[in-house]
Amino acid sequence: MADYNNISLDPVRPSWLPEGMTASMVRLDKLDPVISGNKWFKLKYNLEAARQEGYQTIITFGGAWSNHIAATAQACRENGLSCIGIIRGDEMQSDTNPTLRHAAANGMQLRFVSRAQYSAMQLPGNPDLEKLRQEGFVIPEGGHNAAGARGCEEILSLFPLEDYSHILCAAGTGTTAAGLINAAGVHQEVLAIAVLKGAGFLEQAIADLLSPQHLSSWKLLTAFHQGGYGKINQELIAFMNEFYLETGIPTDIIYTGKMVMAFRQLLEQQYFPAHSKILLIHTGGLQGNQSQQQGILAF
Ligand SMILES: *Cc1c(COP(=O)(O)O)cnc(C)c1O
Repeated sequence: MADYNNISLDPVRPSWLPEGMTASMVRLDKLDPVISGNKWFKLKYNLEAARQEGYQTIITFGGAWSNHIAATAQACRENGLSCIGIIRGDEMQSDTNPTLRHAAANGMQLRFVSRAQYSAMQLPGNPDLEKLRQEGFVIPEGGHNAAGARGCEEILSLFPLEDYSHILCAAGTGTTAAGLINAAGVHQEVLAIAVLKGAGFLEQAIADLLSPQHLSSWKLLTAFHQGGYGKINQELIAFMNEFYLETGIPTDIIYTGKMVMAFRQLLEQQYFPAHSKILLIHTGGLQGNQSQQQGILAF
C-alpha cells in the first residue's frame, strides 16, 4: 500500500547550485515502486468517487509505457477493484513490454486500440466512450480531472513547505501543477515544466483545474521538452547520470530528468533571485526507465 511515511524531503545541493540558494526535493518516487509519485495522488479521489458511486471497475487510458497505467493497475488490485486499460497503439503487445506485462499481472484487462481510435474515444459524447461508461468508472488519461488535481494539493501538506519561494514540477497533462498551484501560498511561484513539444495548450488545461481562490502565481514553461514527449538525447542522459552521482537521486527520462535539467538551465538564465528557496517535486516515474537499453543510466 502507498505509505506516505516513505516520502522524504531531501536537501539537494548539486555543484551547479549557486551559493546562497537552497533546494530540496519532495521524493514522491519513494512512495511505492509502481504506484509511484504523483500518480497515486491523482488516483486517490478518483478511486474514492468510484467507490462512493458503487463502481467495481475502473477504466482508464494510456500508452504502452504509461506510469498512469502501471499505477492504476496496482492501485486497483490493492483496493479490490477490477480495471480495464485502453492502450494506445494496436501494434503493442503486452508480452513484449514490462509496463503492460506488470499491469496485466496486476489484473488489468488490456484493450489495444489504434492511435486514431484512442484519440476519438476520449472525446466527450463519443459512442465508444459512452459504452465504456456502462462498464465502469472512467478516469481520463493521466488522471486529468478535478479529483486528480485535488489529490495533488495534498503533496504540499506532507511537510512544512511555506518557506519555499519557487516550486518546480514536470507537466504532462498539467493536473499535478494545478493541484500544487491551488495549494501553494501567496508568496510562492509554481513553475510547470512541460515535457511535450507545443505544450501551449496546457495553459488552459491547467487553468481549467484551478480554484478561483488560489493564491500563488504560476508559469507554464514550454522550452524545456528536449525535443518532445519521450524524446531523449545524450545531454539529458549525461545530466541525469551526473545528477545521480552528485545527489544519489534517480530521475526518469520522460519527466523528472527534464524538470531537474530545466532547473539548472533556469539557474543559468539567472531566473531565480538571490536567496531563493527552491522546491523540486520528484513525481516518480522511474518504472518508465525500463524503456531504455540497459547500461545507459548509472542507476
Ligand atoms: C504522469 C507524470 C507526470 C505528469 O503529471 P501531470 O499531472 O499529467 O502533469 C510528471 N511526472 C511523472 C513522473 C509522471 O509519471
